[in-house]
Amino acid sequence: MRGSDKNKAETPLMRQHREIKTKYPGAILLFRVGDFYETFGEDAIITAQVLGITLTKRSNGAAADQELAGFPYHSLDTYLPKLVRAGHRVAVVDQLEDPKQAKGIVKRGVTELVTPGIALNDKILETKRYNYLMAILFSHSTTSAAFIELSTGDFFCFSGKPTDIQKVTYALQPTEIIVGRTDYPKLIELLGKDYHIFRLEDWPFQYDTAYKILTHHFRTASLKGFGVQEEEYGIRAAGALLHYLHENEQKNLSHIHKIYVLPQHDFMMMDKFTLRNLEIIEPIHPEGKSLADALDCTLTPMGARLLRRWLVFPLSDLQQIQYRQNTVETFIIQQPKLAELASFLKNIGDLERTTARLAARKISPREATQLRNALHYFFPLFELLQQVAPQTTQTLIPVIPDIQEAVTLLKKTLLPECPVQTNAGNIIQDGISDKLDEYRNIRLHAQAILSDIQEREITKTGISTLKISFNNVFGYYIEITNAHKHKVPPDYIRKQTLTNAERYITPELKQLEEKILHAEDRMVQLESELYQELIEKLLAWVTSISAAAKAAAEIDVLRCFAWNAIKLQYCKPEFHENPTLEIIEGRHPVIEILLPRDKPFIPNDIYLSPDNQQILLITGPNMSGKSVILRQTALIVLLAQSGSFVPATQVRLGIVDRLFTRVGASDNVSAGESTFMVEMNETAQIVHQATPRSLVLLDEIGRGTSTYDGISIAWALVEYLHNEPSISAKTLFATHYHELAALDDQLPRVQNYHVQVQETQEEIIFLRKIVPGNSEHSFGIHVAELAGIPKPITQRAHEILKWLESQRDNRPAENQNLPTIKKTKIQQPLQLQLFALADEQAFKVRKEIEEIDIERLTPIEALLKLQYLKRLLEH
Ligand code: ADP
Repeated sequence: MRGSDKNKAETPLMRQHREIKTKYPGAILLFRVGDFYETFGEDAIITAQVLGITLTKRSNGAAADQELAGFPYHSLDTYLPKLVRAGHRVAVVDQLEDPKQAKGIVKRGVTELVTPGIALNDKILETKRYNYLMAILFSHSTTSAAFIELSTGDFFCFSGKPTDIQKVTYALQPTEIIVGRTDYPKLIELLGKDYHIFRLEDWPFQYDTAYKILTHHFRTASLKGFGVQEEEYGIRAAGALLHYLHENEQKNLSHIHKIYVLPQHDFMMMDKFTLRNLEIIEPIHPEGKSLADALDCTLTPMGARLLRRWLVFPLSDLQQIQYRQNTVETFIIQQPKLAELASFLKNIGDLERTTARLAARKISPREATQLRNALHYFFPLFELLQQVAPQTTQTLIPVIPDIQEAVTLLKKTLLPECPVQTNAGNIIQDGISDKLDEYRNIRLHAQAILSDIQEREITKTGISTLKISFNNVFGYYIEITNAHKHKVPPDYIRKQTLTNAERYITPELKQLEEKILHAEDRMVQLESELYQELIEKLLAWVTSISAAAKAAAEIDVLRCFAWNAIKLQYCKPEFHENPTLEIIEGRHPVIEILLPRDKPFIPNDIYLSPDNQQILLITGPNMSGKSVILRQTALIVLLAQSGSFVPATQVRLGIVDRLFTRVGASDNVSAGESTFMVEMNETAQIVHQATPRSLVLLDEIGRGTSTYDGISIAWALVEYLHNEPSISAKTLFATHYHELAALDDQLPRVQNYHVQVQETQEEIIFLRKIVPGNSEHSFGIHVAELAGIPKPITQRAHEILKWLESQRDNRPAENQNLPTIKKTKIQQPLQLQLFALADEQAFKVRKEIEEIDIERLTPIEALLKLQYLKRLLEH
């Protein structure tokens, strides 16, 4: 059908739908029709699929059928979050006038637009996660990004190398990224396709446009006061973010009252492999436990979010670390007061997000009562803090008097309990509005009159069970049970027959009903108006309340650190100038919590220093505890720099600037790519970015390839980390290639350690202690036994192992009882090549090959050379 025909045949409703749809490209329209939200066409197909609701087809008044899917209006709270979580943009189109009063088609318009990054609804937001919206911009010299968290008002920008942007993106996990059309391919190259990405035109990213949007939002002449003036590209990204919010119906953003540049150098940034391998926020395996989950004893959702933020952005600024540490220490000393502190915090709840909803004028009366209660608890909290840790109350001092006024207003205006809806009354206290009091009197009075009528009618009819009630269909009615039906006076008008009773109305009752309902209607309307007025007044306090919420969140996390330190016996790490790291009796913060009581965690000491003990090569059988030692070392550093106490008896360290964790490929399978390639890509980054202040953890690097390749690469990597002065990073290298132990003799700052095991006739016992020196062999077969591999297989494995070892060492094996077929199969095991490489013969071959000038070699010469090389190997 041609366009014009289609338009001609279109119903007015569909025309209205199409007109709105063109204004919101890419959004699913939830179109209110009567008591339903309907979706049409493509939208209906997606909606039905995501929500699992029925897709129907209906003639649209034209020849063509139209897909249709809808749900009752009261299910919006259930279905809208599902659509958004599935990554869709959703525009809610409501009826803007009363259908009864409308002339022609009811006026409709978008009342809310929700996207994954633009959400304020509790049902969409995750309590313990921030919900960042990010904008990104590429230039030839730098990459810039801006982030905004609508539900808390956090807004910042920064520029740096693409890898820096990757790190911040991974740490913050934005739920939506916006990008100019031109930059889209670069974004995909940098961050992949896993994010919800929205392409904007390029113009909102123009400097002048962006600058204007920002100054207009902040109502300032320039951006100098925010310290972002010099950030040309950051400003462009930030401006585009605000533009996007305005475009998407986000007009009330008063809680976003500042923008700042993320001070990158104040943080120890981690790349995505490290964040993932250390399982800081998410465990790698779903049944595992993350560091954040193990240590989270915060009492407010905003504290839980901040804890996670601190853990992915550990500090590298000593003063800030010490401020946190000292507060934690004070809390520990004042332990008896912690319970009281906890009780106040619990009542404060998610003040941060409530404030954002207030700023957006989307706060429900029930949330407003929560705001009132939360703010109420600020004063005792503040007083207690002044006694316990006066220095931490500094941020609260200026806002406290301000908040007091807000609380007074809230207490005076709101009823103790309020409903969620604004249009159901029961919100405003008596004494706020004369009109409201008057309507309430009418209602009260009418209630009394109703009671009088009931009494009178009982007496008049002699029906003791006569009852006056109300429902939405008939209004007020008189109910009489069947037993008394014969006594019903003739002026009663029957309205409904039930099984045991009949319902009647009377003219008197109808008259009274009108009066009451009129008063009810007016009352509800007035209450809603008074509530809106209250919200408008409260907006003046948004900045102070945000500051108070931020302070409460910090106190919550610091209290949690203190509580963990007490409960789990953590110590206060001491920082010093030099880059040495010394851990006495360190433990793994997550594993020690998960171990059963009868299997206590075995602590270990670690000493690392770029001057004498820069690299520890840790060998030991599988499952002996190598990875745990590596990870606990990283987590102790990370916790220390987050301001927390740490699981150890004593820790001394210099600030670590970067932390790298790499795990050999077989633990790390990534679909479609060679796992070894992934492993090497990850490792390459360390070589380019590590400094003497960095901490590098390499767990079984090289495992993703053949034994020889693996050992050679691991070997060369250790040499490089050791010999390259610009790196000389402190390194823990766990490996089951005990051949690497030879490096200890060659490189002065490499030390061998191994995890002790005790071997008996039947089993090996993991002692979990690391001690100096190399371990003899890998006990892999013992582990196989432990894992339940049947005895015949493991016995056979023992035989083969012995034979292989004898081949390697050129001595006869004790047991030569190997079948010939298998023997030939394993006669050329790959392992032999390494030792070939290491010996003199191999050296000669290699030298010969290196000296060949391939460009000049004729085919005959090449053949002769090959023959010569072959002979070399035979002798
Ligand atoms: P590897 O890296 O040597 O293969 P892991 O470090 O993964 O071994 O440790 C294997 C398991 O041993 C861990 O999951 C943990 O349950 C236990 N374990 C490791 N270290 C300790 C320790 N110090 N104390 C108690 N249990 C430990």
